[in-house]
Amino acid sequence: MYDTIIIGQGPAGITAGIYAVRREMKTLIIGKEPGGQIIWASEIENYPGFITITNFELIDKFNEHAIKSGVEIKNTEVTSVQKREDGIFVVETPAGTFEAKTVIAAMGLAPRRLSVPGEMELSGRGVSYCANCDGPLYKGKTVAVVGSGNSAFDAAEVMSKIAAKVYLVVRGSAFKAFDALVKEVQARPNIEVLTEAQTLEIKGENKVEFLVYKNAKEEIVNLPLDGVFVEIGRIASTDLLRDFVERDQQGQILADDKQETKTPGLFAAGDVVHSEYKQITIAMGQATVAALSAYQYIQQQETKKHELVK
Ligand SMILES: Cc1cc2nc3c(=O)[nH]c(=O)nc-3n(C[C@H](O)[C@H](O)[C@H](O)COP(=O)(O)OP(=O)(O)OC[C@H]3O[C@@H](n4cnc5c(N)ncnc54)[C@H](O)[C@@H]3O)c2cc1C
Repeated sequence: MYDTIIIGQGPAGITAGIYAVRREMKTLIIGKEPGGQIIWASEIENYPGFITITNFELIDKFNEHAIKSGVEIKNTEVTSVQKREDGIFVVETPAGTFEAKTVIAAMGLAPRRLSVPGEMELSGRGVSYCANCDGPLYKGKTVAVVGSGNSAFDAAEVMSKIAAKVYLVVRGSAFKAFDALVKEVQARPNIEVLTEAQTLEIKGENKVEFLVYKNAKEEIVNLPLDGVFVEIGRIASTDLLRDFVERDQQGQILADDKQETKTPGLFAAGDVVHSEYKQITIAMGQATVAALSAYQYIQQQETKKHELVK
């Protein structure tokens, strides 16, 4: 029996773990992989204490800190969470079933898919969701970045330093990125911004060869290229908690100022929580609150039990 099980091994999960063990809580982090979204960042320049630090260095430091503090970590996926009548949470994974007095959901966000033919089939064979990770594979080649927000403009800018030619494929005519970033992209001679271009399909035999889109004149265009970076936002995969939490339209969890959800003992922290800004430091702050609140919840439950016995 754990005092708390934390779902997710990103910055929020690691922070919640460290704070929980410091309150002598028996703590298990279950995460699909270490690092969370930091894996997609290259250099981090706004994490206090480090003027600049690479993603892998920061992830290693996070994990080392958690493990040395006494957090147990299992790399697998949580597939179901149930709450028994006695208030204990039952957490299922392909690696076994675990029980805990509290759960902290720190599942973060994952890339949104385009959902067009060819995307899944060619994923990893020219279709990528991370310019910082896969960018170097396209040295001197032609690529497209699909999207209109900061992450798309950022990816186009990154790729313009590696690829020979970059198309930024924007569905509408408006950009959702910061003005400074838009200006920077527009100033790059090897980036061509295609507006009112609706991606219909990604085509290729075994690897990406064409991005098919419909232009403003309703013409179908086959754009020859070597890679497609999909940067159309991130989604929360919170269906496994649907019976226990309230969610916004994006599936992000609503939590109160103690990071507690509508289910007592179930807390949420980090990018998976409905909030305006998504940053490492914000995720960590919420995770700190979640861990301390989980501790307080257990104390209150114990007090109630003792009063009943009296
Ligand atoms: C390209 C990029 C660059 C960024 N750069 C910066 C930056 O420079 N500075 C900054 O402050 N922020 C940056 N961010 C944002 C930052 O990465 C996030 O705010 C932060 O990682 C959120 O942490 P988290 O722990 O809440 O979620 P995540 O980092 O998303 O981690 C959640 C983890 O939970 C796992 N998970 C999900 N569901 C399950 C399940 N069912 N079972 C088990 N595990 C599960 C996921 O696989 C993931 O590993 C960047 C993000 C991106 C995408």
